[in-house]
Amino acid sequence: MSRVFNFSAGPSMLPEPVLARARDEFLDYRGTGMSVMEMSHRSEVYTAIAQKAEADLRELLGVPSHYKVLFLQGGASGQFAGIPMNLLRGKASAVYVDTGIWSDKAIAEARRYGEVRVAASSKDNGYTKLIPRGEWQVDGDAAYLHYTSNETINGVEFHDVPDDGGLPLVCDMSSNILSRPVDVSRYGLIYAGAQKNMGPAGLVLVIVREDLIGHALPGTPSILDYKQQAEHHSMLNTPPTYPWYLLGLVLEWLKEQGSLADMERRNLRKAEKLYAAIDASGFYSNPIDLNCRSRMNVPFRLRSAELEKVFAKEAAAAGLVNLEGHRSVGGLRASIYNAMPEAGVDALIDFMAGFEHKYG
Ligand SMILES: *Cc1c(COP(=O)(O)O)cnc(C)c1O
Repeated sequence: MSRVFNFSAGPSMLPEPVLARARDEFLDYRGTGMSVMEMSHRSEVYTAIAQKAEADLRELLGVPSHYKVLFLQGGASGQFAGIPMNLLRGKASAVYVDTGIWSDKAIAEARRYGEVRVAASSKDNGYTKLIPRGEWQVDGDAAYLHYTSNETINGVEFHDVPDDGGLPLVCDMSSNILSRPVDVSRYGLIYAGAQKNMGPAGLVLVIVREDLIGHALPGTPSILDYKQQAEHHSMLNTPPTYPWYLLGLVLEWLKEQGSLADMERRNLRKAEKLYAAIDASGFYSNPIDLNCRSRMNVPFRLRSAELEKVFAKEAAAAGLVNLEGHRSVGGLRASIYNAMPEAGVDALIDFMAGFEHKYG
């Protein structure tokens, strides 16, 4: 067996100890004689798995007790609709910050349910900068303020929590949740698809303050209604049992690594050395403002698309895979989530130096 360093943006690499543990428990989960995949979601054994995952998540993120944690389906994209359906609460509009391709998609979907006011957009600068908070137009009558803490495709990340302007703050944390500590109490709602930094695809996490739920728009499907899902412990229907179990294993692994502050230090070290290697060369470039470069997704360019193709191909042959940028923007991108060991980043930096030597 040989494992590569997988720089995919999502689904992305998982910690190897998690995969090994899942393999060991695959056919016979702890003497039950069956795989987790084969269990009733209502069984005692599975209920314990589900509850442990929630408890570990609450512990790691420090989720206050007046927040519900929901394990849903339909991805973060499903929540682009679920959020306005649940959180408009009789108000006419919601405020969104446009910082990249994912917030742009969230805005387009929300427009199907209510009026969207765009507080600020960095579309005109090619999504390479964040507009300072002081320049945002936030309407105090709106239902909530939505932003994307890490733009997975563009490689732009907020390194602070923006002021909420008196509105419930709603955040798409799909690609940087659990990469650093976060003060959940500053948010009305946090959501994140699992397949970037938490587990396999098939699960989306919603952390929502209790007082915001129970006002879903008429016509909201029951499975997207936070109140109903909370009442049924995310088991209004059959949940994605196996991804939920794997997410639980990832959370146990994370706890073994220390706190989220420890994880943040590791992630910062990985990102800083990769950006330093890019900045030190005239051969590689990253266009993002220094104050909002993503620690999770590092896009970079070479002088031509042809050379970028060669780079991705030769890197893959060296065991460094999925370095192509998103199809919508091109270029190259290294996604270095929690599961990417520092050795993977070191190997990439070495490869980059060799490639520059050859083609520079
Ligand atoms: C991947 C991603 C999404 C979409 O996730 P799906 O689970 O495919 O719907 C949304 N937002 C961000 C920031 C992402 O990285």
